[in-house]
Amino acid sequence: MTESTSANAPATDAERRVGLIVVSHSRALALAAVTLAGEMLHGRPLTIEVAAGLDDTTFGTDAVSIMQAIERADSPAGVVVLMDLGSAVLSAELALDLLQDSSIRDRVTLSPAPLVEGLIVAAVAAAGGASREEVAAEARNAVMGKAAHLSTPEPGVAPEPEDQAQAAIVGVFPVANPHGLHARPAARLVSEVRALDASVQLRNLTTGAGPVPAASLSRVATLTALHGHEVEVRATGPQAQEAVEHVLALAKRRFDEPPEQVSAPPAPPRPTPSRSGPLAASPGIAVGPVRRLAAEPVDPALHPAGEPAQEWRRVLASVAAVRREIEHVRVLTERELGPDQASIFDAHLSLLTDTELLGDVKARIRPGTGAVAAWAGSLAEVERQWAELPDPYLRERAADVRAVGEQVLQALTGQPARRMTGEGVLVASDLTPAETAGLDLALVTGVVLAQGSPTSHAAILARARDIPVVVAAGPEVLGIPEGRTILLDGATGALHLDPAPELIEEYQRRAAEAAEQRVRQVALADHPAVSRDGTRILVAANLGSVSDARAALAAGADGAGLVRTEFLFLDRTAAPDINEQQDQYDSIAEAMEGRRITLRTLDVGGDKPLPYLPMPPEANPFLGQRGIRLSLRNRDLLRDQMAAICHTARHSPTSIMLPMVSTPDELIEARQVLVEAAGSSGLPAGLHIGTMIEVPSAALKIEALLPYVDFVSIGTNDLTQYTLAAERGNGAVAALSDALDPGVLRLIDHVCRAASGRVDVAVCGEAASDELAIPILVGLGVRELSVSPPAVARVKAAIRQLDVEHCASLAGQALTLPGATDVRKLVLATMAETQGDAESGTRTGSGVATG
Ligand code: PEP
Ligand code: MG
Repeated sequence: MTESTSANAPATDAERRVGLIVVSHSRALALAAVTLAGEMLHGRPLTIEVAAGLDDTTFGTDAVSIMQAIERADSPAGVVVLMDLGSAVLSAELALDLLQDSSIRDRVTLSPAPLVEGLIVAAVAAAGGASREEVAAEARNAVMGKAAHLSTPEPGVAPEPEDQAQAAIVGVFPVANPHGLHARPAARLVSEVRALDASVQLRNLTTGAGPVPAASLSRVATLTALHGHEVEVRATGPQAQEAVEHVLALAKRRFDEPPEQVSAPPAPPRPTPSRSGPLAASPGIAVGPVRRLAAEPVDPALHPAGEPAQEWRRVLASVAAVRREIEHVRVLTERELGPDQASIFDAHLSLLTDTELLGDVKARIRPGTGAVAAWAGSLAEVERQWAELPDPYLRERAADVRAVGEQVLQALTGQPARRMTGEGVLVASDLTPAETAGLDLALVTGVVLAQGSPTSHAAILARARDIPVVVAAGPEVLGIPEGRTILLDGATGALHLDPAPELIEEYQRRAAEAAEQRVRQVALADHPAVSRDGTRILVAANLGSVSDARAALAAGADGAGLVRTEFLFLDRTAAPDINEQQDQYDSIAEAMEGRRITLRTLDVGGDKPLPYLPMPPEANPFLGQRGIRLSLRNRDLLRDQMAAICHTARHSPTSIMLPMVSTPDELIEARQVLVEAAGSSGLPAGLHIGTMIEVPSAALKIEALLPYVDFVSIGTNDLTQYTLAAERGNGAVAALSDALDPGVLRLIDHVCRAASGRVDVAVCGEAASDELAIPILVGLGVRELSVSPPAVARVKAAIRQLDVEHCASLAGQALTLPGATDVRKLVLATMAETQGDAESGTRTGSGVATG
């Protein structure tokens, strides 16, 4: 989002001059304007930072990126910010509020100048050594030359300049939308009006409601402008005429509301509809009433108020974080479902830049009334106004307000926004990792997700917590009324609505058999897993918390092959400091009673954003700043984490593992940070350093990585996602995203061959607990499997059935097959031969059966 364009300038010269920031909805426009300004500088140095567009092609502005651009351009000479339209101005104002260092704020001027003209004259003035005030004044006067040249006003359009401030342009439109001027058309109106240099008021002539500012969504909604009502538009300011004409034209086009929304407004969409049928995601059988997630009320009394200025900054930071989140979902929705569905999020975004709402929140913050109470108070007020509207459809739109408001409250408090409505089977669209981690085991017997996939982080956490889950069940499950009985089999993906008593009995019988088998496996879980021909395979556990570590030890794990440390960082408002991390890592080591623990450094980004680590929205977060990439850009955070890991490694067997590595340079740089973190005492003696292999390039270039590591661990979840170009959380491609695809297996084979005799190879992705994958992985040379704690006993039992020689020949055959299904069939057929057991190993259920 932000780019520095001061490359032509030696930093020291540039620093003596006023820095410029170009804030625009369009990155292309901003870069072109900077190039044009550069033409005028004839090589003179100047720092111009661009904070424009959400990415190269998506329009939008982002307060955090503007703030970062200001920080980069700041010098004692100060900064002048030039902006294009509407929300660019709001974002720039937010950016100033977000600046932690208030002394920088005092050196920044937001210029009302038109962007292109203003930038050119400001650049010339700044490069010539003008002060910040002079640069800002130059910019402000930038259009005078053009105005003087075009001194004749357009006939019948603009009033004389001296009248401009007072003269109002007035127009009237009838509301043509069947549901009136509800949230979405209103959002369209608001965003268009905000983009113009005019002050616009609306009045409902039919009811007499208003006037209200057209730039405030929350106020426009209170006009209760229903179908057929007449609405007056009154505008003043330089673009008053355009504003009125534009609103009238929009109204005629029913504010571009698509026909299907005009007749039947849909519920807010989720970006990824399922097409592949229900998928097994976490084994176990559950039967019970359908339950949903509902918002957990936030008690402001539990969130004491800090100093008002700081509380207001917290509001702005949370609003900015939620805006980024919604903008990201909007980008995904537009790409996957089209612009009409994506436009639904415009209403949400408008609320977050609603100056009336934010102004009200600010006014409520006082000593003793903090951010949470103020936001909750303002939100309740807006929601009340909407809920009192006479039109039932408009009343329902109060849900939009609530949804966005709760997101902000969640960001402010760090608490998961939704909780289950009662005991039973949770049916939801999708779950975030944080929500899955927070599920109350006393209430939830199973989970059915309309979306998701078996390797999503939500599914992984559910397996770790032994909750039966079926994913990718399709949007129809969301229509099942609460309280209806549903039965799910998390091992096969089968779903039954209102199951007959005989069917429940049949499943209960199967569950009892499975439980008996499990008792036998658990009895041997503490023993090593040794194949029939005498090869020991370590079976370690994947953990996210100290309680997982206790569960892992009880389950017989030989160690912790993957500690996803990010779960200590999620769902909070600030990163844990070194001491807190040390305590957590020490407790995990202690719980594992001397078994080796593998602490993976922070793997956030992708589907695990951190509210306090702001990142510009990315169109493809899984291909963006994730894992080690993000850590190396936030070296302080990485150094702190590594220091805490070194502390633990000085007294317990500990390994450090780096996620999402794609080049040796990343390993070299991370090792440098580790040496810095270890300090004067040097690297702890028993510390092993390893890399995950999750990116195809890392697997293919394994020889280049090996000199820098003591072990490698293959993350088949991501390796599969990147090899098959099938996003791991996307139910629509979940069937494709199978680690047994021979393309993935060939990469694993390559890694095992290169590492053989040099370093150990583990697998810590979900394939490690897939019974059809285990013989292949062992056959390829993997000697450690790291799985969720509840799977340890089962995986050990499976290994004891294997003959490694035989597995190697099976794996050799698998590498030559065309697809994952063929590999699964091959393994099943072999198992049937050796065990006389030809159970179905299919991963896909048959749909939601009734009865
Ligand atoms: C993997 O990608 O396989 C892995 C173990 O890491 P995560 O699932 O946490 O991304
Ligand atoms: Mg991964």
